[in-house]
Amino acid sequence: MADSIEFYFSELARGTIAEGAVCRFQTLEARAVCSSCGSQFRPRSATFTCPDCRSPVFELKQGQELFIESIDVSGAEYPQSEGIELQ
Ligand SMILES: [Zn+2]
Repeated sequence: MADSIEFYFSELARGTIAEGAVCRFQTLEARAVCSSCGSQFRPRSATFTCPDCRSPVFELKQGQELFIESIDVSGAEYPQSEGIELQ
């Protein structure tokens, strides 16, 4: 998933001021909370069960998000006279 975002970013950035920019992102490690015993664990593989009570019922607290950490445009060249500000 992260690879495809990087790919699409470079495709979208082509011919724009963002061309050559580096898109950095980070994915969060999945974290789940068991609905039965409240134990926090990291779901792995296809069998998501609580390591403490083996309950298959849990709530995913984290890991569905994907953050764009930063977009580095320091390598991009643009005329300073236009006063473009990149936030
Ligand atoms: Zn549990």
